This record gives sequence, C-alpha cells and structure tokens, in this order.
Amino acid sequence: MAKKTLGHVELEWTCPSCGTRNPGRAQGCTSCGAPMPAGLRFQVGAGKPLDTSEATADRVAQGPDIHCPYCGVRNAGAAKTCRGCGGDLSEGERRAAGTVLGAFLSGPVADVTCPHCGAKNPGTRTACAQCGGALPRPVTEPPAEEAGASIETGKSKRLPLLAVLLAVVLACGGGWLLMRSLGRSSTTTGTVAAVEWTYTIAMEQLGPAEYEAWRDEIPDGARLGECSSRVRQTVDEPVPGATEECGTPYVVDTGTGQGRVMQDCQYHVPDAWCRYTVQEWIPAGEEETSGRDLSPYWPAVAVSTGRREGSRSEDYRVAFDTGDGQAAYRPATLDEFTRFVPGSRWQLEVNRPGCNDGSGAA
Ligand SMILES: [Zn+2]
Ligand SMILES: [Zn+2]
Ligand SMILES: [Zn+2]
Repeated sequence: MAKKTLGHVELEWTCPSCGTRNPGRAQGCTSCGAPMPAGLRFQVGAGKPLDTSEATADRVAQGPDIHCPYCGVRNAGAAKTCRGCGGDLSEGERRAAGTVLGAFLSGPVADVTCPHCGAKNPGTRTACAQCGGALPRPVTEPPAEEAGASIETGKSKRLPLLAVLLAVVLACGGGWLLMRSLGRSSTTTGTVAAVEWTYTIAMEQLGPAEYEAWRDEIPDGARLGECSSRVRQTVDEPVPGATEECGTPYVVDTGTGQGRVMQDCQYHVPDAWCRYTVQEWIPAGEEETSGRDLSPYWPAVAVSTGRREGSRSEDYRVAFDTGDGQAAYRPATLDEFTRFVPGSRWQLEVNRPGCNDGSGAA
C-alpha cells in the first residue's frame, strides 16, 4: 500500500482538570489554564477541515512538541527554552508521534446535548452555546465499509445448503451401493429377456477454436480478435496508466496538535484482454453402432485430412424377467456382457427400480 499524505487536521485534547475540549494548538487549557499533561493523548475532532497549507506542514516538520523537564509545560518542537519557566529544553521529553488516532471525519457531525443544561449544540462546538459548559465529543458514525462486510458473510452461509442438495442428487446415479447398505435389497432369480449394446466413436475435425488471454500470452499463429482493457495486476506504487484506489482517510498523531491525514492507496494496472482463434481438433459429431445381440462391433469411420477419431465408449444393457417384473443391469465390459445369453437364468440382487444390479449365476 502506498501511504499518501493528504494534508493536516487540527486535533483536540480534553482538559483532565475541567473537561474542556481544547484545540490541538493550545498548549494550556483555554478554560482553566492547566498545562496539557505529557501523557494525555490527542483526539480527532469532528467536522474539522483538511488543512493543506504550507505553514501547518512547516510547523509539523519541526517535530513533536517538547514537554519541559522542569515544569511540564508543552513547547513547540523547535523551541530551545521553556515558554513557561525559561528552562533548557534539551533534556525535555518529546511527545510520541505515529499513532493512528482514527478515521478522518470531514462529513456532517451529529448534535451534542449539553450535560449541564440539556441544550442541543452542533457537534463541532466544544463549549455550550447556552451555558458555556464543556461539551463531550460527538458520537461518530462508523465508516460505510463495515456495513458491506456483513453482506459477504450472509452469502457464504448459503454454500453448505447447496452442497447438501447436490449430494442428494448425485446419490441416485450411483445409488445402488447406498441402497444395498441400507438393507433395501432382496434376492430373486431372473431370466435374460433382452440384451442391447451401443458403441460410440466421437469424431473430431480441425477447426477454429476461440479462447481469451492477455495479449502477450496469445500463441504464435493465432488470429487476434477483439480486445478490451482489464485489470491485470494491483501494485502498491503508482504506475503510468494505472487506476488509483484509496481507502478511508485516517489521522496520524504528529505530536504537534496537528494530525497528519493519510490514505492507503493501491494501483490497478490495466492490460489488453483479447479473444483469439486457433485451429485445433474440435468435436465433430459421433459415429454409432448398436444392436440387440452379444456381438458388438465398432462403426467404420472415415478418417481424412482434418478429420480424426476421438474417444470411444461402449455401453451394455441387460434386461431380466423376474417373478415380479423387469430388472435391468449394465455390464461394465464386453467380457461380462457376453455371459448374459438370452434365456439364461441368474440369481439377482435387486436394489431398487431403476438402479439395479444382477449377480451370481443360477
Ligand atoms: Zn481546563
Ligand atoms: Zn518549564
Ligand atoms: Zn449548556
């Protein structure tokens, strides 16, 4: 992530003696005069404008303020002697810097109710307009990004249900094993009533196949089609032609009463994503033979330049007459299929109508 400085914003601090909210630049309380203690943290004020002036940047560049080692008074980072007691500041303690204090909230601020007289005051005020009492910090809205996160969570919760439905559907195809283990099978005898086979050869021909890839990854000899711009990579530093994407601005303590307003950014680098066409073997129909006997044979295929044989598949089916209706079985190999001579009797383990298995000779 590139860290960008957008400018500065004046912080505030709440006087521990009287509760007054003081501007960051005030080194002592504007109400009771108490010096700002060294250990007290600055806070991000509400509705403060972004300050991009060089004067403020120069002030911050002096480094964190120094607390006098003799009287504790806060002094500017460049000061040599204490403005409170005149003491030498070379032994003084510099305020901590670098802490992220919170989001930079430049938008509208909620009203604050005065705890002393109950009057409503704009959230940007630090003292009550009616009674002059110190006002608490307004409650700020959380960044909008957090609302989006809960939608994502809801989406992922749906996945397990989908997985269960899929499992149920798949269970029917290979279901006879499952049904057998559930004890729903029974044994009966059957006579081979019919046999059937189908042999299929998938054919392929040389033809245009369309793909998509980054322009520099397209193979030689391909025909280039339409291209469009897409994000190819995201990097931390600015690159010519990249699109910048930045997060919510936030405020970092500089130890001076001014917060540095920063933003973390990343850069989406576009590239040409293109369609292209190459000549390759693509499906070109099927050649099929079938029969109702035990002597299957492969179809004769015409192979020529630009046309060839693809994958082969064989399918065998046997139908039985049993005491209570028909049962079907699909042998896996030709060797097994040829054993089911029409009229022969078999002991069958019947699992379920539609998903059957025959086994064992009578
Ligand atoms: Zn005070
Ligand atoms: Zn001092
Ligand atoms: Zn009041």
